[in-house]
Amino acid sequence: MKVLFRMPLRLYNTMSGKVEEFQTIADNEVRMYACGPTVYDYGHIGNFRTFVAVDILQRYLRQSGFRLRYVMNITDVDDKIIRNSASAGVSVKQYTVKFEKAFLEDSATLNIEQPILVRATEHIEEMAQFIAKLEKAGYAYRAEDGSYYFRIAKFPGYGKLSKKDFAGMEDGARVDVDEYEKDSARDFALWKAPKPGEASWDTSIGPGRPGWHIECSVMSMAELGESFDLHAGGEDLIFPHHENEIAQSESLTGKPFAHFWFHSRFLLVEGEKMSKSLGNFFTLRDLVLKGHKPSSIRFLLASVPYRHQLNFTVDGLKQAAVSVERLRNFQQRLLNGQFPADGSQAGIDLAQETSQRLRAGMDDDLNTAQAQAAIFDMVRKANVAIDAGQLGKNDATALLAVLDQFDSLFAVLKDDDAPKIKCIVEWAQAEGRAGEISKELLEAFSSQPASDGDIQEKIAAIEAARRGRDFKTSDAIRAELAAVGIAVEITKDGVRWKRK
Ligand code: AMP
Ligand code: ZN
Repeated sequence: MKVLFRMPLRLYNTMSGKVEEFQTIADNEVRMYACGPTVYDYGHIGNFRTFVAVDILQRYLRQSGFRLRYVMNITDVDDKIIRNSASAGVSVKQYTVKFEKAFLEDSATLNIEQPILVRATEHIEEMAQFIAKLEKAGYAYRAEDGSYYFRIAKFPGYGKLSKKDFAGMEDGARVDVDEYEKDSARDFALWKAPKPGEASWDTSIGPGRPGWHIECSVMSMAELGESFDLHAGGEDLIFPHHENEIAQSESLTGKPFAHFWFHSRFLLVEGEKMSKSLGNFFTLRDLVLKGHKPSSIRFLLASVPYRHQLNFTVDGLKQAAVSVERLRNFQQRLLNGQFPADGSQAGIDLAQETSQRLRAGMDDDLNTAQAQAAIFDMVRKANVAIDAGQLGKNDATALLAVLDQFDSLFAVLKDDDAPKIKCIVEWAQAEGRAGEISKELLEAFSSQPASDGDIQEKIAAIEAARRGRDFKTSDAIRAELAAVGIAVEITKDGVRWKRK
C-alpha cells in the first residue's frame, strides 16, 4: 500500500495576486458568494464558462472535506432590466421571471449544482438602510434628484483589488450607470432616483432602485456575515463591480470583506470575442439546437483551467463528445465485464495513482486539464490490462471508484443528454423557434405526427398573420410546422399544406 500525501488546496487570490494555500476563517466551513446572472436575456456560453468553473470549485471544496455555505445572487433589477421591461410594457418581475427560470433550467442542463439563491428585489429595503448608514458615516451623499453616490475619495483602499492607481482622481465626479468605463474612478451610484416611466420602490431613503454593486454587498453580508471566505465571478467583474463591493462593505465594517477572490477568465469563440455582430454569439440552447450534447458542452467548458482563456470551437466540442463517450464506455466495460475474483493488483495500483494525480491537479489551483489527462491515462492503461486479462473484480471496483471521484467534479458520466435535449427542442417549438433545430435533432425528437386539427389551427394563424402583414409570425409558424414534417405553401388561392 502506497502512502498518499495530501497537499493543501492552493488557489489564486486576485487580491494578493498570488497562488495561496486556501484557508477558511473558521471551523473548516467555507462561506462563499458568487455573482450570479443578470436575468435580462438567456445566458450565453461565456456566462456558463464562469458558472461551470464556480460549480467545479464548490464541488472540489466539498470533495476536499470543507463544509460549504454557498450563495449566489440573481440580479433581477439593473439598468438593462428597467429599460427592457419598460419598452416591453411589462413589470420588472414579469420580465425577469422568464429568464430566471431559463437560467435555472440551463444550469440544470449543465449539471451545475444549485446554490442558495438570493434575489435583489427581495432585499431592497435592506439596501436602502445600508445606504443610510453609509451616508451617516460620511461615505455616501445624496444628490439633488434623490439619488445616492459613494464618495470614493473617502475610501483609501479604492483600487486594491484591480491594482488600479487612482491617485489624482477628481473628487465628486459621478457616474450613475451600472456599467462604466474600465478605468474611470468616479463616485458611483448606490441608489437611483426614478425617472418618469421607470419602475421604482418606496423605501426609507425615498423612492428609487438600487445600483448593481450595492445589491451584492448587502446580500452577501446578510447571508454570510461581514467577512467571509470566498467571492467568485468572471474576470470582468474585478473592476468596477467587485472593487465597489469592497469599498461599500469595508468602509462600513472596517473589516476585510472577502478573504479570497476567485475570477475566471473569459471564453472566446473560435479565437474571437463573442459578439452578436460577429455571428459567434451562442446561448446554451443555441448549441443544443445545433445538435451538441449538454455533456460535451460541460466537458469542454471544464477542460481548460479557469485562469486561462478558453477558446471554444466546434472542433473542441466534437472532441469533447468523443472524450465523454470514451469515459462512459469504459465505465460500462467495468460494470458489465466478467472479471475473475483475483486480479493482478495492477488495477488497484493504477486507481490509487490516478486518484492521487487527480487530487494533485485540482489542489494546484484547480488544474482541470491535469485531472482530465490523469483520467484518460487511466482509461488507456486499464483497457490494455483488461484486454490482456490482467484485471480482477477488486481492480474493477477500485477503478470505478476513481471514475466516481472524477465525475463528482466533472459530472458527465450519467447518460442523460437525450431527455435534456428533448426539453430544449420542445421549448424551441413552443417559442416559434423550430426553424433553428438541426435536422438530426428533428428526426430524433419530432417524429410524432401532428393532428389535422392542430395543423388547421396553425394554418388559420398563418392566414391571420399574413392578413395583418406580420410575415415574421407567419414564417415562424411555417418553420414550426416544417419541424414536424408539414410543408406549407402560400398560393394565390390561399395557404395549403401537405405532409412531407
Ligand atoms: P452577467 O449575467 O452579465 O452579470 O454575467 C454573469 C457571469 O458571467 C459573470 O460572472 C460574468 O463575469 C461572466 N461572463 C460574462 N461574459 C463572459 C465570457 N465571455 N466568458 C466568461 N465569463 C463571462
Ligand atoms: Zn455581484
